[in-house]
Amino acid sequence: MKTRLEELTENLDSVRTRIAVAAQGSGRSASDITLIVVTKTFPASDVKILYELGVRDFGENRDQEASLKSTDLPDDCRWHFQGQIQSNKLKSIANWADVLHSIDDLAHARKLDSLVSSDSKKDIFVQVSLDNLPNRGGVLPKLIPEFLDEVSVFPHLNVRGLMAVAPLGEDPAVAFQRLKELSGQLVKVHPEAWEISAGMSNDFEAAISQGATHIRIGSQILGVR
Ligand SMILES: *Cc1c(COP(=O)(O)O)cnc(C)c1O
Repeated sequence: MKTRLEELTENLDSVRTRIAVAAQGSGRSASDITLIVVTKTFPASDVKILYELGVRDFGENRDQEASLKSTDLPDDCRWHFQGQIQSNKLKSIANWADVLHSIDDLAHARKLDSLVSSDSKKDIFVQVSLDNLPNRGGVLPKLIPEFLDEVSVFPHLNVRGLMAVAPLGEDPAVAFQRLKELSGQLVKVHPEAWEISAGMSNDFEAAISQGATHIRIGSQILGVR
């Protein structure tokens, strides 16, 4: 029987190899892509193994779970929040999360901005709804330019770029191509917001082929939840 260390080592190696191949295919190298290992629902012991294997970027969806885990890990970890935001949890999320990937509401952005101490900035991605269904999270593509103008004004938010989840029932490469085009239009006005957070276990190669700079992978490395 494999130990958890052996299992995570193999899975991580295999994902890293696939990232390198996909990056090369898009004219980039593996170091251009940030791998966020999504550790939601998995114990801190797994996160510690991944840390020993060199992972520093971890993704979480639940405030309480992540806030406990993050205190158990060394300070040089970067914690990414990509879950649905509840306004009353923002203060706690802002305490442990270095990057929030799921900003799609101006009121949340305003509140987050007010929570960040005056001498620092919080990194955010603006989530786009690639299936045009606003109730599944994300700003509608046609509203993205205006949303970016508004969110860029907040002094304590550092807008890194756009984030999306591939819609169900559509070729992810086609959906991520729309994201890439949207990002291309956006950077003409907001050159600092050039990064793209897209791609999960089942579609990260498609996302990299369409310019993703941050991929968020859970089950392919940690197993089924
Ligand atoms: C859970 C989750 C992931 C990781 O999903 P896997 O399919 O396990 O790789 C990535 N992004 C978001 C927004 C998630 O909720």
